[in-house]
Amino acid sequence: MPGILSGKVALVTGASSGIGEAAALALAEAGAAVAVSARRAGRLASLVTRITGSGGEAIALPGDVSSEEDATRAVADTVARLGRINILVNSAGIIQAGGVESLSLDEWRRVIDINLMGTLYTCKAAIGPMKAQGSGDIINISSTAGRRAAGIFGPYSTSKFGLTGLTEGLRQEVGGAGIRVSIVEPGATATEVAGGISDPTMRAAMAQHVAKEGAMQPADIASAIVFIASLPPRVNVSQMLIRPTIDT
Ligand code: NDP
Repeated sequence: MPGILSGKVALVTGASSGIGEAAALALAEAGAAVAVSARRAGRLASLVTRITGSGGEAIALPGDVSSEEDATRAVADTVARLGRINILVNSAGIIQAGGVESLSLDEWRRVIDINLMGTLYTCKAAIGPMKAQGSGDIINISSTAGRRAAGIFGPYSTSKFGLTGLTEGLRQEVGGAGIRVSIVEPGATATEVAGGISDPTMRAAMAQHVAKEGAMQPADIASAIVFIASLPPRVNVSQMLIRPTIDT
């Protein structure tokens, strides 16, 4: 599909639903060839069919981003099969309710391994190819919980605050090589994100929160991602906080 991102190749993690899926669709609509990654291979296959059925180019790269091997391979396979990697969108993420006392260390590790370490793995793998190209965009999806800690979502906030440090440090590290690094921090967005919360009461409350009237849609965040990747190479949107207009 010809568009403002024609000729670009994007890898989107967390593309089997929500913001990642919408980002893949929006990037493809803007002309990019898209590699989509997540664990649910069936969902990825449907997404690829949807994009290619509309005249776009897409491939599925199933994998678990908390595995260094899978995450690194997703970047390598994008380059091997689509020729390069111009845009990396790290949207894979989970939320879990609980704090230091109430959640097990295994639960803490799981959230941090997916949200923070998974993003680190793909970023690390993408730097080499992007440096060789002399340009690239890395866009990490954080949250308003990365600006203001939420004690009821302890590991989630911790992972998102970590993403801020990772993203800003990486921006300083690779900007000289023409690589732009951005963090996007959405508020409530109507996705499946609540589904991973173990506690049924908290899961229902979160599901209601993200689906409430006036909540943002995944496509709203996807538009911001396309905007960031479409700016002239001299411009790096380092941080973008996106809130619903009615923010209660
Ligand atoms: P969804 O649950 O709809 O999407 C999460 C995506 O992450 C899915 O594609 C899921 O795919 C993938 N994922 C989860 N665990 C792994 C893993 N171990 N390896 C690979 N992929 C994984 O939620 P959202 O779209 O809302 O979440 C996307 C990002 O947006 C997250 O980082 C979230 O923190 C952030 N965010 C969401 C907000 C909201 O209100 N919805 C607000 C602020 C930030 P699969 O299960 O197939 O692996």
